[in-house]
Amino acid sequence: MAETAPFRRRVGSVRPSHLMFTSGVAALVDLPNFSVLIKGLDDWSHRGLPDAMPIAEPRLLEEVQRSVGKSVQKLMPAPWMEGLDQDATGPASRVGVPVVPFPSWFRCTACNELGALDSGIFKFENSKPRKPHEARFFHDRCKRNKPLAVAARFVLTCTNGHLDEFPYSHFVHRGEACTKATHPRLRMEDHGGNLGANVNIKCVNCGEHRNIRQAQGRRGEENLPRCRGRHPHLAVFDPQGCDRAPKLLVVGASNQWFAKTLSALAVPRSGASALDAKIEQHWGIIESLPPAMYPWARENAPAFRELDQWSDEEIAEAVERRKDKLAGAGGGERPSGHIDLRTPEWEVFSAQRLPDPDLDFALRRDIDGVPEPLTGIYGDVVQAERLREVRALIGFTRLDAPDPEDPELVRIVQLARDRPTWVPASEVRGEGIFLRPPEDLLIAWEKRVADSEALRLHQEAYARHRKNRYSDRIATMSDFDPMAHWPGARFIALHTLSHLLIRTISLECGYSSASLSERIYSSTDDDPHRGGILIYTAVPDAEGTLGGLVSLAEPDQLVRLTRRALADARHCSSDPLCADRLPQAPADFLHGAACHICLFVSETTCERGNKFLDRRFVVPIGDPDLALYPEVP
Ligand SMILES: [Zn+2]
Ligand SMILES: [Zn+2]
Ligand SMILES: [Zn+2]
Ligand SMILES: [Zn+2]
Ligand SMILES: [Zn+2]
Repeated sequence: MAETAPFRRRVGSVRPSHLMFTSGVAALVDLPNFSVLIKGLDDWSHRGLPDAMPIAEPRLLEEVQRSVGKSVQKLMPAPWMEGLDQDATGPASRVGVPVVPFPSWFRCTACNELGALDSGIFKFENSKPRKPHEARFFHDRCKRNKPLAVAARFVLTCTNGHLDEFPYSHFVHRGEACTKATHPRLRMEDHGGNLGANVNIKCVNCGEHRNIRQAQGRRGEENLPRCRGRHPHLAVFDPQGCDRAPKLLVVGASNQWFAKTLSALAVPRSGASALDAKIEQHWGIIESLPPAMYPWARENAPAFRELDQWSDEEIAEAVERRKDKLAGAGGGERPSGHIDLRTPEWEVFSAQRLPDPDLDFALRRDIDGVPEPLTGIYGDVVQAERLREVRALIGFTRLDAPDPEDPELVRIVQLARDRPTWVPASEVRGEGIFLRPPEDLLIAWEKRVADSEALRLHQEAYARHRKNRYSDRIATMSDFDPMAHWPGARFIALHTLSHLLIRTISLECGYSSASLSERIYSSTDDDPHRGGILIYTAVPDAEGTLGGLVSLAEPDQLVRLTRRALADARHCSSDPLCADRLPQAPADFLHGAACHICLFVSETTCERGNKFLDRRFVVPIGDPDLALYPEVP
């Protein structure tokens, strides 16, 4: 990381994957003595990095354009150069991501003087290029000699994603001006204690003082000024201003920043999407042909030779699909909202005929099919010997994480002032296992649980959760549907099965569960019979794969693993508490029989924040009718 003018010094280093997804653009990054804010893309540069190549993934780029705008032409890795360890002042030291100190209010650790950097009372010092983390500010006009000044750790934020300095002078003077000075001197006394903030702000000139607790919670809403709509990463204020109440946030709080990312596996086009691609390619010829002419065209038009594997009906349907799409696109924008990066992946994994392997993607199915003891558990098992996942950062939120299914709901903030020509991305290579329960089993189970009390409670909790989470926004939304984007019972069963397997794999095979990822392919409105899970390794910044994960799909291993996962699922050491749990009013958590002991995985692994999990929907605990697998092998 490199601080920008007026300092432009190196202040620390962060792994490139971190820079995007754990603390990317506009995130606050904690350094030992102060914190910095990562600036917007307008200030990033790949200069000095002649080898910085865009990451190719057309399917992802298309969706990024759909979300961010057509201006985006490339997916780029973060500016990063190896070699800093060997040569601290070499070329690598001039490459980095620009940051700015934020908050810019500091407190002297010797005399408690509180002031903003632009008041000039604090000076910056970073004398050792090899130790950028020793960069620090000190109180220049202190009685003591250059005592350390640390960031005053309070900031304001809001659900529109704004971030601002804490208005110390306004706060201590209760919204009025100081009666004694135009630029009053302030002090911050930190009385410590772990039970919330106990920090007193004092005006040296007039003697007013106030505890920071009065800026918290409900009281805070009355005592704080309106949100100014500030986006410090872009150095702008929102021209529309802001209608949200600002909230006090302490630097380091985990809800200060959430990445909004898109991820795609590099999959070859197959099935319907392959046909669509062919139709698009030969549109000039196919468009004008009535379906009755197709048999003739197969004999006479070269383009039709590439359509051998599809029937006349399939081609006619694909032509209609494309006509609809073109008609819809006539209005300008493509349909916004749900971004479907998963369907092409599902089509490839579930296809009868697996695609030819390439460098990014190779699948294999055991010739003997699903091992005999597991035929009641899985309808299909596919080994993914090679996978490549590309992730792009397209925005961020504060206070609430972006809702994966409901992109409109939480306001996503842009990464750049102007329309960006690129967004940060990273690629990871790995391997995985794709598992699909028998579809008839899933259908029968869906019927069994449809009217169950347990499922009803999950659905009610979901509605409650949405209402609570978006309580400050519902008023401005005329058509709030509390059940919108409910993932469905099938999702809960698949998701729970995925977690059970991930936990067993990490126990048995020594994978840290954080190095595993999951993708749940569950039913959609268009495709009610979708149902599979992919468990895969995706470790950023690591070369190649960890090896071994695909071997878990070999018959013996898979039998042992699955048996253990399902057997373990029947008990949790916090039963009966865990086994009996259902989300009941007024609680609005979104899991049933699930907890840290039996089912949760690390947040980097789970695609849904450990929500929508319940062991009772997979194995019999209590009522066996609720279980997808009433009999465990
Ligand atoms: Zn001092
Ligand atoms: Zn005062
Ligand atoms: Zn705001
Ligand atoms: Zn449990
Ligand atoms: Zn999960």
